[in-house]
Amino acid sequence: MEDSDRSKEDLLAELQAARAVVAKLRAHEKEGAQIEAELRRELRLVSENAKTTGNILRSTVDLTNQATSELKQAKRRAEAAALAKSRFLANMSHELRTPMTAILGYTDLLLEEGDLSQAPKSRIDKLQTLKRNGSHLMRILNDILDLSKIEAGAIEIERVKASPFEILTDIDGLMRNTAEAKGISLNISCGGAIPTAIHTDPTRLRQVLMNLVGNALKFTDEGGVSVVADLAGPEHKGDVGRAMRFTVSDSGCGIGPDAMDKIFDAFSQADASTTRKFGGTGLGLTISKQLAQLLGGDITVESAADEGATFVLTIDTGPIEGVPLATSEQEFESVPTKSGDDLENTQAFLRRIHDSGPKLRVLLVEDGPDNRRLISHTLGRAGFEVTQGENGREGVDLAVAHHDTGQPFDLILMDMQMPVLDGYGATSELRQRGFQTPIVALTAHAMAGDKERCLKAGCTAFATKPIERRALIQVILDQVKQPRS
Ligand code: MN
Repeated sequence: MEDSDRSKEDLLAELQAARAVVAKLRAHEKEGAQIEAELRRELRLVSENAKTTGNILRSTVDLTNQATSELKQAKRRAEAAALAKSRFLANMSHELRTPMTAILGYTDLLLEEGDLSQAPKSRIDKLQTLKRNGSHLMRILNDILDLSKIEAGAIEIERVKASPFEILTDIDGLMRNTAEAKGISLNISCGGAIPTAIHTDPTRLRQVLMNLVGNALKFTDEGGVSVVADLAGPEHKGDVGRAMRFTVSDSGCGIGPDAMDKIFDAFSQADASTTRKFGGTGLGLTISKQLAQLLGGDITVESAADEGATFVLTIDTGPIEGVPLATSEQEFESVPTKSGDDLENTQAFLRRIHDSGPKLRVLLVEDGPDNRRLISHTLGRAGFEVTQGENGREGVDLAVAHHDTGQPFDLILMDMQMPVLDGYGATSELRQRGFQTPIVALTAHAMAGDKERCLKAGCTAFATKPIERRALIQVILDQVKQPRS
């Protein structure tokens, strides 16, 4: 074989091998491209999926946010509506109470005028019927006003030092006649040592107790009603003080299980099938329970039909460290009874101040003619010398004129809502002019915040309309009794 032939063969072989390598490489390349393409496709799928998932997530979040804000809006709207309703009820019942005050006030005046022994009995009966029904209507209006104030969160609870013994004595004084008239007993006692002073809102506590005892008396025809006061065990401890407990039990007709469920619900008294029907609006217990909660406690009830009922009221005592405890009846008796003596004290005081010198001069500034006549008549009867003004402008002018002639007023009663110049403006003006005279605001508003507004204008005290005769005289006396600078 020739060399050239061999090398040619070699070359061919090498060439073939090279071709095979190239083919192999090409095949690999193709495979690689395929794999790459597949990978890209998968990558695209993954990224598309991710995008979709992202979108879904985003829209879910969007939807949730939207739903939340819609819910929030709906909640705000519902709250605003509830508040508006409560405000409306409060305003309405106030508007209704004002003319009722005039009706009741004039009925009282007619019942006191002249020689009653000479008046025909039928006329007295009619006046008393007027008075009874008017008072009942007032109670209903007060209930509605109270409830709407509670619901609007506009009720003011004060925390002052008060004696539980004095409050219980008041309840006894106020309810004993009702019990005696029905021929049933009323026992008020202590079930253990109780603090001689607590921090609470005595007016509201008295209101709740009056309601519970009043209800108990109403539904009891035989036997009696008992009120037991004690301190609840330490497990009922409030935030600062302890729980004071008033247990009001009666031997009346009891409350069936159906009625028990809704006994504290407002506006559920329509059901006539309950064994124990409540008079009036049926709002008394609803109000009482909410007041008890505002006083840091609660009201619970236990009853079986035909076995009487037991209402347990608890309230927070407030701080009672170092306050002596007492159980004895003497504590009860040593407390001067307030209810009956109040007016007597007032009259004695009035006699004393009237005897000691010239009559106290009062300026009454009020735009409502009925109220003006009624208040001025009441004050005149109490022995004051009354001058009347019809609006704030007249009030300021009268105060200035009387001061200039050396006969300044001892006190000014100032209505707050008046035309021309309102009570706030008139009071501010008098204070700016340097008048130190006590000014009692006659405020028509019963919502929280009104008090602050009056005091800010410069009033020294206030009486809430509708004006109650005794309360008004008391406020005036409190003001003129204070030493003046
Ligand atoms: Mn007015």
